[in-house]
Formats: sequence, C-alpha cells, structure tokens
Amino acid sequence: MLSKTEKYLFKKKLEELKSIRGQHTELISLYIPPNRRISDVMAHLRDEYSQSSNIKSKQTRKNVLSAIESIMARLRYFKEPPPNGMVFFVGMVGEPPKLVAEIVEPPIPINIYLYRCDSQFYLEPLERLLEEKDVYGLLLIDRREATIGFLTGSRIEMAAYMTSRVPGKHKKGGQSQRRFERLTEIAAHEWFTKVGEKANQLFLEKKNLKGILVGGPGPTKREFVNGNYLDYRIKKKIIGFYDTGYTDEYGLRELVSSASTDLEQMDIIRDKKLMQKFLNEIKKNSGLAIYGEKEVRKALEMGAVEVVMVSDALEKYKIRAKCKSCGYEVNGIFEKVDLTCPHCSIPMGILERKDIVEEYAELAEKSSAEFEIIGRESEEGEILYKAFGGIAGILRYKIE
Ligand SMILES: [Zn+2]
Repeated sequence: MLSKTEKYLFKKKLEELKSIRGQHTELISLYIPPNRRISDVMAHLRDEYSQSSNIKSKQTRKNVLSAIESIMARLRYFKEPPPNGMVFFVGMVGEPPKLVAEIVEPPIPINIYLYRCDSQFYLEPLERLLEEKDVYGLLLIDRREATIGFLTGSRIEMAAYMTSRVPGKHKKGGQSQRRFERLTEIAAHEWFTKVGEKANQLFLEKKNLKGILVGGPGPTKREFVNGNYLDYRIKKKIIGFYDTGYTDEYGLRELVSSASTDLEQMDIIRDKKLMQKFLNEIKKNSGLAIYGEKEVRKALEMGAVEVVMVSDALEKYKIRAKCKSCGYEVNGIFEKVDLTCPHCSIPMGILERKDIVEEYAELAEKSSAEFEIIGRESEEGEILYKAFGGIAGILRYKIE
C-alpha cells in the first residue's frame, strides 16, 4: 500500500514521462520484474539491437540503437533487479536530440516483462499500480440477521452471515409483557455480543482497512454500535450509517451503493475538515495557524507543528545545483527545474532535486508532525493554494 506522498510523487513522475514524445518510433520502455535474470535481459536486448539495425530511416535507427546501448550500459551495474523490479524509459527527445534515460523503481512489485519501442513511453502498467484499491469493511445488522463483508476496489465479498434467536415482536400466549421484554433484551444482548465478536475478529485482522460502513433497516444498527460490542479501533473507523432494506448478501450491495457518494468524497471531506480547522485558528487569531514556506519550515524544525498541509498543485522544487564553469552554487526552493548560472548564462548541473511535497513530508516525519497533501477539488483546497501559498500548518503550541 502506498502512502499518499509516495503516490503523489509516483504520479507526478508518470505525468512527466507521459508528456514526452519522440520524433518517430524510437522511445524504449523496458519492464523488468524482480525475478528476471539480468543476463536474460541482456540477451534479449542484443537481439533487439541487431533487429533494429534494419530500421530504414537513418536517424530513427541511430536513435533506437543509442537508446538500447544506453540501457545495456546501465544494466551492467545491476547483479539482479531491485526488489520491486525496474522500468527503463530511454530515448532521444527534442531538437537537437537529447538522451532521456529514466530508471523507475515501482513502489510495489511489477510482474510483467515487456520491451516496447514507440513514439511515446508505455506507462499503463505503472498507472495501473496507482489505481486505488482501498478496503472497506461492511456490516449489516438487525435483530434477525447480520452480515459482514468487504469492499475492495469495486469487488464486494461476504465474510460472515449470522442469524439470531431474538424473539419476534409478538409474545407467546401466557408470557407476561415484562418477562417477554426482559427475555428479548437478554437475547438481543447475546446477539450483539456474538456479532460484535465476529466483527472485531474479521475487521481487526484485515490489513489496510480504510473505513467501515454500517447498514440495516431500522434503529438496531445504531443501538449495536452505541453499545459496548465493538472494539474501539473498529468504532473509530466507522464512516457512516446507511439504511438498507436487507441484511443479507444482497444488502451488502445495497449498502455500498447508498454509501458511494461518501466513499468518493472521503479524501475531500478529510481535506475540508482539516482546512476548516486551520481557517478557524486564523479567524480566532490564536497564533496556532501558520503558513508560507519559511514559517512552516522553521516551526517544523522546532518540532512545534501538529499537522502540515501542502497543496498538490504546488510546482516547486528544492534544488542544489552547481555551475560547471565558474563553480557558483545554489541551494534553495525554485519554481522550475532547469537553472541557469547568473554569471555564465549556461545550464547549471543539478546535484540534488526534490519535489517540495517530498521535502515537507520528510521534514514532517522528522518532527513527528502529521502530513497531508491537500487537493484543489474543494473550495478550502483552493484557498490553501491561492491565499496561503500552498503550505500551511497548525501548531501544537504558540511559538512567538
Ligand atoms: Zn557560472
């Protein structure tokens, strides 16, 4: 499972590669899974090399051959592929042609081996890795039945189905009303205990459970959750209650469809809430809300930040670069990746380049602050980007 930051950075890298176009069919994408032997890949590349020598256009042939050469030269540094495998994106781009050579180590293992030569890089397998596969717990309950299941991506599976012995609404003849009610109460308590134990077991052992949806026809679902039947870690994950007509396997589908809007909105709602908290602190003038690159960095270094929010729309980089000619060095935040030496007017050599999101994620981790990437989908996200420079934080305590 990728963290939000890893996902953001990976996505950005893919977008960068996606924008690259070759003049002809001359950009090479090579996917190497972790279990592939480097010597086999080399043999395959030698084969591709000799076939590419037959390409008619002289320029294309030259570009393809030098791309393959470049991959082979780089492959020599590997005894075996990295744990998640690797992907080469290599080719001559632009006029005059410049070699682009990227090695991407996917954040989760890839399982395909593939060589492709095209006018653009082949990114689909990596893009597929990014598709969200969140897992949600599903719980349906009334006084007769309970069903527990999971929603993974768009797949719904049933994990448990139970029926109760709670008596129906009508008492048997001869029973006093009070006795009937007492028996019903005891039976309901036993029923809730049984369902609670099963739910705790199934939900707690599930990794990456993002949230839990609770459904059922009447008030029973809330009665159950408000009682002491669920583990507190499970309770914390409940996203909402939804009315469904059924409490069986069919009800699981009903539950997912009535919660679909909330599920789509999950990230946006969390972003919104966080930004509202920040804006509230601003309004109260409490001194706990800070914003701007320098202020937030300073507070992070002091360990005073509770949560950092960075807009996903920021195009800024932390760059360390040196001029090869005069030795002039820079180290700071820039809005572009290509820097020119102010003295010699030539491109500077990049020693280190980091996306600002990555930079702040690291700073936050060092000082145990929470870190959030805020999208621009919500009004609040737009405010963070436009009014607060895209970087803000809420402090644990006042610092000035
Ligand atoms: Zn210079």
